[in-house]
Amino acid sequence: MLRLPRFTYLEPRTLSDAIRMRADAGDDASFVAGGTDLYPNMKRRQQTPHTVIALHHLRELQSVTGSPREGMTIGAGVTLTALARHPVIAEHYPAVSHAAAVVSTPLLRNMGTIGGNLLLDTRCNYYDQTYEWRKAIDFCMKKDGEICWVAPSSPRCWAVQSSDGAPVAVALGADVTLASARGERRISAAALYNNDGIRYLTKSPDELLVAYHLPPAGTATGANGRWRATYHKLRRRGAFDFPVLGVAARVDFHEDDTVKSARIVLGGVASYPMEIPAAADTIVGRRLDASTVAAAADAAYRPAKPMDNTDFTLSWRKEMVRVYVQRALEEIAA
Ligand SMILES: Cc1cc2nc3c(=O)[nH]c(=O)nc-3n(C[C@H](O)[C@H](O)[C@H](O)COP(=O)(O)OP(=O)(O)OC[C@H]3O[C@@H](n4cnc5c(N)ncnc54)[C@H](O)[C@@H]3O)c2cc1C
Ligand code: SF4
Repeated sequence: MLRLPRFTYLEPRTLSDAIRMRADAGDDASFVAGGTDLYPNMKRRQQTPHTVIALHHLRELQSVTGSPREGMTIGAGVTLTALARHPVIAEHYPAVSHAAAVVSTPLLRNMGTIGGNLLLDTRCNYYDQTYEWRKAIDFCMKKDGEICWVAPSSPRCWAVQSSDGAPVAVALGADVTLASARGERRISAAALYNNDGIRYLTKSPDELLVAYHLPPAGTATGANGRWRATYHKLRRRGAFDFPVLGVAARVDFHEDDTVKSARIVLGGVASYPMEIPAAADTIVGRRLDASTVAAAADAAYRPAKPMDNTDFTLSWRKEMVRVYVQRALEEIAA
């Protein structure tokens, strides 16, 4: 049985207390929300914080506010189950609720939060192993070692962005609010991620993710414009597994049904949610029909270069990019 290492556990009651505790704890501390990513990682000694600051008592992180017309704000501590079942989110932002609903199993969705999901550690077959397993191969660059076993001459880690929520947040053009002892800042979700398996987030470790801001909905009447979005996930076991490919797409339409703008984002093929502007360019100004959808799927296929460090062969995963982009755009067009 894998055991947690010893650590100091703190339970702040307010956001400002959590930020102060994190500042006081110094570099060797982590926030924990549902713990469904952090605690398994600690058991495998991939992360070894001496102080863990729990966020589940912070009421500031628990609410869903706003409206589809103005845009909605989801507290980082909202569980994936609550998000998937939220009636307004389900009606106006179905890609967000669907991505939450297909994370892992009901038990993990009851504990796991959207904040932890957006900040999920990157994954790799050589890293998501017990300490003894990793020690037997002399570890790797992401934790305790020197070399990358996936690309031994590479100066960087290629661990894979594996969150279902992250590609959706980027495709929708969502924002996040971060808070630390230095104050609060709001950045785009796209700006939160970095294409590096070790430094996969641009936020500093002491910044607490407070909220996830959805843009005005494409279904709401008014000046927001009409847009639709979707998320398609590839995994081995439909009831359980992490994505080995995720396709999130948002398409904005003109009155005459031609495409005004589009964002197509791939998860599971790089260390960050990878936007493919070339695929979006093929449909802008045109109607979504069989030929434009096929052209976009082809354009997404070419830059997608999955590495051999997760489930399935990389050539098949690459081939599936074309299939899943096509399915996502066909759903939006329907
Ligand atoms: C068997 C299994 C299957 C899984 N399958 C999937 C899957 O299919 N898809 C998927 O996306 N995920 C999957 N996960 C990962 C995980 O369960 C979810 O991503 C979940 O949403 C993580 O949320 P959490 O609240 O439990 O995160 P935690 O474990 O609490 O935290 C994750 C990370 O985020 C940090 N963090 C959390 N909240 C904040 C905050 N508000 N501010 C700053 N830092 C914060 C923590 O310090 C930690 O580094 C799986 C996990 C397991 C164990
Ligand atoms: S990609 Fe390389 S460095 Fe990164 S976790 Fe995998 S083996 Fe380690």
